[in-house]
Amino acid sequence: MPTYLDIAAVRIQRYLARTPTLRGRRAASAALVEMRSVAADALVDSASARRNEEAGEIDGVISLTVDPPGKVDEVASVVLRALRSRLPGAEFHAISGTGEDYVTAYAREMRPGIVAGRGRADLPTAAEFPLAAPCRVCGVDPAVDSVDLGDDGVREVCADCAERHTRQALAESRTAERRLARRLNLDAAPRGFEDLAAMGARQTRIAVIHADGNRVGRFFLDLAALPADRLPERQTVVRRLSEATFDALAAATMAIRDAGARTLPVIPHVLGGDDVLASVPADRAWRFVRVLLREFGERMNRLVKSLGLAGEITAPTMTAAVLFARHDESFATIVASAEDALTRGKRAGAGRAAWVCFHDLTTEGRRDEGRVVSLAALQTGQTHLDALARAPRSLRENLAAALADGGAGAARAHSHRLGVTASLPFLPPAPPDPAPDGEPPADAEPTGPDDRRVDLDTALRIARWWR
Ligand SMILES: [Zn+2]
Repeated sequence: MPTYLDIAAVRIQRYLARTPTLRGRRAASAALVEMRSVAADALVDSASARRNEEAGEIDGVISLTVDPPGKVDEVASVVLRALRSRLPGAEFHAISGTGEDYVTAYAREMRPGIVAGRGRADLPTAAEFPLAAPCRVCGVDPAVDSVDLGDDGVREVCADCAERHTRQALAESRTAERRLARRLNLDAAPRGFEDLAAMGARQTRIAVIHADGNRVGRFFLDLAALPADRLPERQTVVRRLSEATFDALAAATMAIRDAGARTLPVIPHVLGGDDVLASVPADRAWRFVRVLLREFGERMNRLVKSLGLAGEITAPTMTAAVLFARHDESFATIVASAEDALTRGKRAGAGRAAWVCFHDLTTEGRRDEGRVVSLAALQTGQTHLDALARAPRSLRENLAAALADGGAGAARAHSHRLGVTASLPFLPPAPPDPAPDGEPPADAEPTGPDDRRVDLDTALRIARWWR
C-alpha cells in the first residue's frame, strides 16, 4: 500500500493578507503555486519521493508518494527546508498516511490526523534581531533586506517580502488567475482593486468571496468505506473534486462578464481543492456566488452519479462568505471577517446545505455579524429579489426604517400606504382580523429559521447589491 505525504501552507488567507498591496498578494499567490516546483527541485535526487498523481492541482499543497515509508521524515525535511527559503514567512504542516489509494489514506489517516493536531508543523524562524525595524511592506516581521519596489521606491523589507518581490514573475503563469483567463480566453483581471471596483455600477466597492465545500471529509470517508471493486475510479476522485471547483469558478466568472468584455471580472487569490478566495465588483457578487454554489453542487452530484453511487452517498455542497467593502479597505480586515462569516454560514446550513453568510463592511460596520441565507432561498426568491432591487433606494431605506421601528406590521402598513408590492413576499402573512370574542390574533411573526424563506430585513440587505 502506498504512503502519501502532504505538505501544505496553512492559514493561507492570512498569509496573503499580510501584504497591503494587491501586487504583493499576487506574488504570494504565485509563490503558493510555485511550491510544487520548489519541492520538485529539492527532490530531484531523491529516489524515494514521487508526485502524487491522484491529488490534482491545489494551491499551497504538495502531495507526494513516499517509498519506502520509512523515508517520510527525511523527505519532509528536504521539502520543508526548500520551502522555508522560498516562503520565509509562511506556516507549513506535513502529514502522512498509508492506504490503498489517496482517498482512503486521506480520509482515514491524514485528515483525522490534522484535526487531532498530529503531523509536523513548520513555523517561521523567530526573528534573529528582535530590535530591528519592522518590514516597510507587511509590518509583520523585522526588516532584513532592502529591495527596489518600482513606483514605491527602495524599502527595507523582511525576508518573506524580499523573496516575493525578487521572484514574483516566476510562477505567475500557473496562478488560478492565469489558468482562469486561459480557460475562458479572456485577458488578465484589472491590476488593482480600484480598477476591479470600477467595473461595477457603484464604482468604489468590491466583494470578496470565500467559499468552501461542505462535508468533504465525510464524503471521502464514505468513498473509502466502499470495497475496491465497487469503486474502480477511486484514484481520480480527489482530482475531480478540484476540477469541479475550477469549473464552477469558470462558470461563475462567465455569468458576471459583460457581453463582449475582454477583461476577467474576477481576481482569484486562492484556489485549492474545494476552497476558493476571490474578489469581484460588488454588484456582481450575488450572481457570482449563486452560480458558483449551484455549479459546484451540480458537478458533485454528477460525479457521484457517474460513480454509480447516487442515493447511496451524499455529494458535498458549498458554502460561501460574501464580504462587501470599499476597494481600499484593509485586506487583512476583510479576510478575518470572511473567515468568521464562513463559520456562521456553515453553522446555518448545519455543515450540509449550501448557504451564504454576507456582511457589508461599508454600511454594517465590523462588529455586525452579517446575515445568512440559503442558496435554495436565493433561487426560489429570485424574481421577488429582482423586484425589490429595482425599487428606488429611498423606498427601501424607508421600509428598513419602518421595519426597525415597528416590525413587520409597520413595514406592511408602509408598503400598502405607498402601493408598493415588492416588499410583501418577504413579510409574514397578515394576521387575520380579531375574532368576535375579542381574542387577540396569534402572533404571525415567523419563529425559527426557514431555509426557503427570506425575511424583509435580510431581503433589503441583499437588495443593496443585487443585480
Ligand atoms: Zn514583510
